Amino acid sequence: MSRHAHDAYDTHESHEGVGGGARRSLAVIGAGPAGLAAALAAAVRGSRVTLIDAGAQAGGQFYRQPAEELGARRPQALHHQWRTWERLRDGLATQIATGRVTHLTDHHVWCVERLDLDEATGFLVHALHGPAQEEPSVVRADAVVLATGAYEKVLPFPGWTLPGVITAGGAQAMLKGGLVLQGRTAVVAGTGPLLLPVAAGLASAGAEVAALVESAGVHHVARHARALSAHPDKLVEGAGYVAELMRRRVPLKARHAIVEAQGDGALEAVTVAALDRDGRVTPGSEQVIRCDTLAVGHGLLPHTDLAETLGCRLEGPAVAVDDEQRTDVHGVWAAGEATGVGGAALSLAEGHIAGCSATARLAGREPDPRAWNAAAKSRARGRDFIASLDAVFAPRAHWAEQVTDATVVCRCEEVPASAIREAVGELGATDARTVKLLTRAGMGWCQGRMCGPAVAGLTGCEPRPSRRPFARPVPLGVLARAGEDLPDE
Ligand SMILES: Cc1cc2nc3c(=O)[nH]c(=O)nc-3n(C[C@H](O)[C@H](O)[C@H](O)COP(=O)(O)OP(=O)(O)OC[C@H]3O[C@@H](n4cnc5c(N)ncnc54)[C@H](O)[C@@H]3O)c2cc1C
Repeated sequence: MSRHAHDAYDTHESHEGVGGGARRSLAVIGAGPAGLAAALAAAVRGSRVTLIDAGAQAGGQFYRQPAEELGARRPQALHHQWRTWERLRDGLATQIATGRVTHLTDHHVWCVERLDLDEATGFLVHALHGPAQEEPSVVRADAVVLATGAYEKVLPFPGWTLPGVITAGGAQAMLKGGLVLQGRTAVVAGTGPLLLPVAAGLASAGAEVAALVESAGVHHVARHARALSAHPDKLVEGAGYVAELMRRRVPLKARHAIVEAQGDGALEAVTVAALDRDGRVTPGSEQVIRCDTLAVGHGLLPHTDLAETLGCRLEGPAVAVDDEQRTDVHGVWAAGEATGVGGAALSLAEGHIAGCSATARLAGREPDPRAWNAAAKSRARGRDFIASLDAVFAPRAHWAEQVTDATVVCRCEEVPASAIREAVGELGATDARTVKLLTRAGMGWCQGRMCGPAVAGLTGCEPRPSRRPFARPVPLGVLARAGEDLPDE
C-alpha cells in the first residue's frame, strides 16, 4: 500500500469524537494488520475493544516481532513498511493507555458462541491461555470482528517429513520472531509470492540460498503482464526482492519443482526438476542440490474455523463478506486473509472498514461509506491485484504423480499415500471425507489443516473447508465448565 493510503487510516484520535454513541463492546480476534486496523478504527470512533490474539505481541504474520527478551536492536531490518507498523504499534499503545482497547495476548480462541437468551445477546469468546494453553478465559462482546489470517498450504513429496524441511512461512517466522536461521544452506521452493521475501530474508540474514525454485513459469507472468502492470507499487516490491536475490547470486529456477528431499535422518539434499507447460516433470531434467534446509510452500489458505462455528457463509475457502466486511451472521464482521488471501495492505484496508462499520452499527447508526473511501479504493486495488496473482501462482498440476505410495501424507495419523490410493481405487471413495473415515487421514491433532489439500488432490476432488467444531484442541475439563459462568459485561 502506498504511504498516502496508509496515512488515510487514522490510528490516533478521531475527528468523529470518542464516545459519540453508546460505548458498546467489540471483540476483535487476531492482532495482525487486519485486526489492528479494525481495533484502532473502532476505538477512535468510540467502541470499547478487546483485541484477542494467540501471539505474545501484536503484529500477526506480516509484522511478527522478535521476542522481547532477545533485545533486537534493529528489528526493522527484517521488515517492510516499518513506518506503517510504527503507526499501528503507537496507535495501539495510545488506545490501551486511554482504556479504549484491552489487548489480551497469548489467548487462543477455540470458539465464539452466539448468545441468544432473553436477558443476554451478543457473543462469548472462549479462549485458552497460560503456558499450557489450558486456562480458560471468556470475553463477552456485543459484536465480533474475525481477523484470524491464513495458514500455509504444503503439498507432500517424497522426503517432506525429514527434519530440515519446514514451511516457507515457518522459516520466515523463525527469522522474524526468533532471529534464527534454521540452517546454513537453504532451498526455498513451491509457488506463490511469499517465496520471494522468504528467500530474500534468509539470504540477507546470512544463509546461503542455494536456489529459489518456483513452479510457475515466466510465461505465466507474461500472460498476466497487463493486469499486473496496473499495480506498479507491487511490481516494484517484487522487483526489489528479485534484485536482492540477484545481488546475492541466488539462482532463480522458474517452472521447476522439488521432486524429492533426501537425507539420512535429516535433510542433506533435494532433487529439483524442470516442468513442462502442463506442469509435468521433464524426464532427465533432475538435478540434486545440497542443502540442510528446505523452506517450502504452495500458497495460503484462510483461517475460517471460528466463522464456520458461528455459521458464517463461506465463498470457496474464504469467509464471505459484503462491502462493509459484514458476514451474513448478524454482529459478525470479518477482515484480512480470513476473507481471502491478499497481503498486508489489503488486510489493513479491510480491517479499517470493518472497524468503522462495526462501531457505527453498534451505535445504531447507518455507516457512511464515504468515511472509508481511501480504504475502499485500496481494497479494490488489492483484490484486483490478488486475482492476477492467483492466476500466475496456481499450484502446479500433476504434483500428485510425484507422490510415491510410501510418502506419508497425513503426518498426525501417519497415513501413507498408498492408503489414500487404496481408499479411492479399491474402496470407491470419491471425496476427502470418505477417505478420512476409511484411512484416518485428517483425524489427528491438526484436524486436516496440513494434509487436507493433499488428501483432496490425491482423491481427485476439490478441497473443501472441513467443518471443525473448535478452532483448536480444548481440554475436556474446560469444555465441561464452559457456559457455567457468564462474564459480567
Ligand atoms: C506463516 C505466514 C508467513 C507470512 N509471511 C509473510 C511475509 O513475510 N510477507 C508478506 O507479505 N506476507 C506474509 N504472509 C501473508 C500475511 O499473512 C498477510 O500479508 C498479513 O499478515 C495478513 O494479515 P491478517 O491480519 O489478515 O492476518 P495475520 O497477520 O495472519 O494475523 C492473524 C492473527 O490472528 C491470530 N489468530 C488466528 N487464529 C486465532 C485464534 N483462534 N485465537 C487467537 N488468535 C488467533 C494470529 O495469532 C495472528 O496474529 C504470511 C502468512 C503466513 C501464514
